[in-house]
Amino acid sequence: ASMEFETLIIGAGAAGMMCAAHAGPGVLIIDHAKAPGEKIRISGGGRCNFTNLHASPQNFISQNKHFCKSALGRYTQWDFIDLVDQHGIAWHEKTLGQLFCDHSAKEIIAMLRAEMDKAGAQLWLQTEVGEISHNGSRFSIALQREGQTRQITAGNLVVACGGKSIPKMGATGLGYQIATQFGLPVITPRPGLVPLMFSDEKFKPLAGVATPARVHAGDTSFDEAILFTHRGLSGPAVLQASSYWREGETIKINLIAGGDLMPALQGQRQTDGRKALTTVLSQHLPARLVDHLSQEIALTGNIADQSDATLAALCDHLSDWTLTPAGSEGYRTAEVTLGGVDTDALSSKTMQSKTVPGLYFIGECVDVTGWLGGYNFQWAWSSGWAAGQAIAAS
Ligand code: FAD
Repeated sequence: ASMEFETLIIGAGAAGMMCAAHAGPGVLIIDHAKAPGEKIRISGGGRCNFTNLHASPQNFISQNKHFCKSALGRYTQWDFIDLVDQHGIAWHEKTLGQLFCDHSAKEIIAMLRAEMDKAGAQLWLQTEVGEISHNGSRFSIALQREGQTRQITAGNLVVACGGKSIPKMGATGLGYQIATQFGLPVITPRPGLVPLMFSDEKFKPLAGVATPARVHAGDTSFDEAILFTHRGLSGPAVLQASSYWREGETIKINLIAGGDLMPALQGQRQTDGRKALTTVLSQHLPARLVDHLSQEIALTGNIADQSDATLAALCDHLSDWTLTPAGSEGYRTAEVTLGGVDTDALSSKTMQSKTVPGLYFIGECVDVTGWLGGYNFQWAWSSGWAAGQAIAAS
């Protein structure tokens, strides 16, 4: 005999737990992991950057940039902050509107579990999903748990199993398979918020060097730190840009976006004329980076020897430093997965499939991807809430 539920949610991550807390009675939420919310636990260096004060639709990437507006507008960062406050979780703004727990990301997981318990949702862990079918009104799902197969049926099936990023943490891409099974188009997934790599080892001597910069990616640019790694480039500005970068394209970095280097160099030509140009530049940029740049552009002689034209050419080079990454580090280290279930196939208000009644997709498996800085969790909360309240009202 099969067990009957109103709603089955696949994936007890950020979006699934939020949905379970709002979807009304008869909810079963399952996960193949040993614990719910594993990505929440490791997020934000263990403190979970759970939202962003400035979250708005322009912080999200999707083929349809309007799709995220409804859910984000009806369950906002302020709603989530209220919830966090109700649970007495202390938080602070770190930088650029990014909100973190003062103590631990585990508090966010405990909060969501408490909300699910309050709603009466059942949580089954270490549960694998087998065959799924739909008879026109109900879903039938085979679940493997404790060495047994249990057949369950549910009127609603919510797919909340995330993207492909960090397979070690349990990411599988099952959500895309389910979409495909039910005939929903999927925008090809690719790694986002991921370090970029270069084919040669030219940046190896720079490993560990960080500097503020403006990294251009398409029409968008990010002013934050860049970090050289032994394989290439990382740091928040590069991670952000990586979500806009495609194989074969260049990225442009303005290394002097912070200040006006030209007048500073002209001034130092007067006051420090006998200093080597590289020495003067090292007052504005990390010395190891200046060393590297001297292989790309002539940085010989003293500052007094440099004409305005030479200094201007130098500033141009530094403000338009163009690099061609060979690739990204891929899903192994990507913080998110771009692409996913095509939003054309979903209602933006409820996240329900337009063709299969009762089938919902929420969170990262949908083709909506946030910037670095708490936006991805906000999408998980907002889309999870949107589906949950629609199910409760149905
Ligand atoms: P997830 O939270 O990934 O949940 C999916 C769940 O489905 C998981 O519990 C998984 O075990 C389960 N699952 C997957 N496949 C199966 C299967 N086949 N069967 C059963 N269950 C399955 N975003 C921020 O906004 N702020 C941050 O600070 C932040 N830090 C991050 C740090 C790291 C290291 C990483 C990797 C990501 C970070 N993110 C952050 C991104 C954020 O974690 C995700 O965008 C968010 O968790 C997506 O929520 P979700 O519920 O859609 O998916």
